Amino acid sequence: MPEISLEQKREVTRVTDEVGGEVARAMSIHAGIVSLHEAKAVIEEEFDEFWELVKVNPAKIPIEDRDSRLQGLRKELIQTAAMCIRAIVDLRLEP
Ligand SMILES: [Mg+2]
Repeated sequence: MPEISLEQKREVTRVTDEVGGEVARAMSIHAGIVSLHEAKAVIEEEFDEFWELVKVNPAKIPIEDRDSRLQGLRKELIQTAAMCIRAIVDLRLEP
């Protein structure tokens, strides 16, 4: 792995742990991905939810709602990453 700072490593680990938790959560409630087309659909669904939040003009969001938008953006990116991992695992896309 390329050299990164300890602080960056901790942050990457924190996020990848969260993504791993989301993968496990999704596996416990949804059947596995069975095709590349299904993988594309589930990844796109999560990415589209991210994109819907991206398109909102921050200037039009009441101050009290801005934190929840940022949390929503983060959540959708975590879910998108989780679906990418799920596709790799479920479809056995070996290196
Ligand atoms: Mg989502």
